Amino acid sequence: MSDTDVLWLRRDLRLHDSPALAAAAAADELLAVYCFDPREYGDRPFGGRDSFRYRKTGAHRVRFRREAVADLRERLRERGGELLVRHERPERALRTVADAVDADTVHYHTRPSPEEMGVEEAVREQFRNRPTATERHWGHTLYHVDDLPVRYTEIQDTYTPFRNTVEAGAEVREPLETPELPPTPATEPSPGEIPTPETLGVEPATPDDRGVHPFPGGESAALDRLESWMWDGDNLRSYRDTRNGMVGPDYSSKFSPYLNEGCLSPRYVKREVDRYEAERVSNDDTYWLVFELLWRDFFQFQVAKHGATFFERPGIRDREIDWADPETDPKAASQFRRWCEGATGIPFVDANMVELNQTGYVSNRGRQIAASFLANNLRIDWRRGAAYFERRLVDYDPASNYGNWAYIAGVGNDSRNRHFDVSSQAEKYDPDGTFVRRWLPALSDVPADAVHEPWTLTPAQQRRHGVELGIDYPEPVVDLEASYEKLP
Ligand SMILES: Cc1cc2nc3c(=O)[nH]c(=O)nc-3n(C[C@H](O)[C@H](O)[C@H](O)COP(=O)(O)OP(=O)(O)OC[C@H]3O[C@@H](n4cnc5c(N)ncnc54)[C@H](O)[C@@H]3O)c2cc1C
Repeated sequence: MSDTDVLWLRRDLRLHDSPALAAAAAADELLAVYCFDPREYGDRPFGGRDSFRYRKTGAHRVRFRREAVADLRERLRERGGELLVRHERPERALRTVADAVDADTVHYHTRPSPEEMGVEEAVREQFRNRPTATERHWGHTLYHVDDLPVRYTEIQDTYTPFRNTVEAGAEVREPLETPELPPTPATEPSPGEIPTPETLGVEPATPDDRGVHPFPGGESAALDRLESWMWDGDNLRSYRDTRNGMVGPDYSSKFSPYLNEGCLSPRYVKREVDRYEAERVSNDDTYWLVFELLWRDFFQFQVAKHGATFFERPGIRDREIDWADPETDPKAASQFRRWCEGATGIPFVDANMVELNQTGYVSNRGRQIAASFLANNLRIDWRRGAAYFERRLVDYDPASNYGNWAYIAGVGNDSRNRHFDVSSQAEKYDPDGTFVRRWLPALSDVPADAVHEPWTLTPAQQRRHGVELGIDYPEPVVDLEASYEKLP
């Protein structure tokens, strides 16, 4: 009898270096399925203690994801395969598909966040005591979880010791080639349409040409980006130097949405770095991309280790801070709304938030500033900010987002407190104000020496520079200097 396997695709939308695909392609027949899970779109409770409601997935990630699914369907079809698309909970859709084709095994990649593991558990439950088996694979990190020198439950909670341990005691596996695909089953169910944003209940994304990159979704675009940024643009040789930039497509790799929706494998990136080092140049900058991918791994293994605690307000450090709660405190509610809209009156914060809202992407520096301002200057519950990022980011990943937020809020993977001084950061990373003027046109005529602190302008100077505070651009939501003094 021939084997029929189902490949359940999730945030692993690629053909290259896919352990689940490699296993499923060994069957005689193969069908791939992707589900737009209704629970991921629309309002949801955060869960746990002090829960609140928020919108999980916004326009930018929906746009990217729909394109990534369409691209994968195209790539599978070119190879004689098919991708079924469903707008349904995976546990239901997979059961129906598996029954229709009499599937032997459903293959999938696991993801370590509690929410994603909960969905996996529901899928496994559907097949318990049934003829279809389920088989889970690990495919999204640079280092395979089984290759870590210590069990993931034992890894260190700070980055540098983690990196040292892993680099000294483990090897990155070679990426897998794209396999030949077996035919699809003769009784193949209907392919299904990719749901529109409207069907998903999400507003459509409108492009903004001020964005650093259009981020077309999918594996084809991921491979193109790697080729053009690393090889054609030759940007890796100066990466460490440029990666703190804020304007333009090439100051950093822009791989994050591709890595997070699984269009690009980190092991494939590492192999390209090795090849670049052999063929072009090997220096601190070329190593630095691997260093950053290790940060990504670090948070992936941290979330696996700590589970739900990673997302709780006291964090893995179990630190109680007197957070202001926008649910119960009207002042915090108004400050939080202004932060979300990019209307705090602090230009370096606002420009980053407007970029986030308009494009779904912000530089690493910008994310640090915006997060630190909410958590440290306004002392608003950091999970509210992280949940807002979750909705807006094109490259959202639970481990990377909540891990970085908790770190900055002082409840995560660091024993030190990590607040940023917004004014000195603005002077250092946007000395002439190019970045803030790009996103805040109200400040376009304000000279460099005042553009980061427009509240220092007299009414006459404001008139001269075409900005009236409180009318064209807000008064600051907080006295910055005083807010630092309150920090522990
Ligand atoms: C508050 C906050 C929230 C964040 N949320 C996310 C998120 O949801 N998803 C996400 O991918 N990154 C997140 N980051 C990390 C980082 O800002 C982005 O990965 C990076 O800006 C993406 O741009 P790039 O691909 O050009 O990065 P590069 O600088 O070119 O880095 C290459 C890759 O390394 C990884 N990486 C780099 N820095 C980090 C980091 N600090 N933590 C984890 N991985 C890292 C990413 O996969 C990135 O694509 C967050 C950072 C902060 C401070």
